Amino acid sequence: MSDDIATRKMQFLFALRSKGVTDQRVLEAMEKIDRGAFIKGLFAERAYEDMPLPIACGQTISQPSVVGLMTQALNVQPRDKVLEVGTGSGYQAAILSQLARRVYTVDRHKRLVLEAREIFAALDLSNITAIAADGSFGLPDQAPFDRIIVTAAAEDPPPPLLAQLKIGGIMVLPVGQSDHVQSLIRVTRTEDGFEYDELRPVRFVPLIEGLGPEG
Ligand code: SAH
Repeated sequence: MSDDIATRKMQFLFALRSKGVTDQRVLEAMEKIDRGAFIKGLFAERAYEDMPLPIACGQTISQPSVVGLMTQALNVQPRDKVLEVGTGSGYQAAILSQLARRVYTVDRHKRLVLEAREIFAALDLSNITAIAADGSFGLPDQAPFDRIIVTAAAEDPPPPLLAQLKIGGIMVLPVGQSDHVQSLIRVTRTEDGFEYDELRPVRFVPLIEGLGPEG
């Protein structure tokens, strides 16, 4: 690693801490998983900036501090089975793979799923399964989940995802009616129902029904 990249990586971790990512396990996972591996082309050199960046299929890799804060809010435990809706670049799933027993990640764009699978294999992240599917229906075959994270915004938490959360389970997702005003919320399933906490304003691409154009 050149000094330049080493310095940028240190600044990357510093930025995470200064934006409130304090969970040691999350910081260690984000130190270990190289965001640069998930960004191709022109924007690769900006991988260590705390910014969302464009990826294929008109989608975005989330801002690192938002990835950190969402992962922290999810409070993943080592035995957990986690579902991510919105694979995108695969970066968030790779972070989760360091904290959970098993990660299932789904995206409506097959191309993104295929590219993410290649990166997971190259990095030897063998506890992630990436599937092309409409994640608004969850993943009934693998349900229920200890944790669910959604990285695209719906108006409300999709009912199938609520149904696929274990009792005691946690789901973190952005919700909101427009592109501009969205809130990150945490839903905890209790014996009697669901508890909702509003965490912070965020901005995500929308959750869209159906598979992408390439099927
Ligand atoms: N977590 C990603 C960023 C996701 S961007 C990362 O770490 O890079 C949001 C993703 O959600 C996009 O790739 C988009 O294709 C996907 N998406 C939108 N609606 C979806 C749906 N109904 N089912 C599955 N994926 C969906």
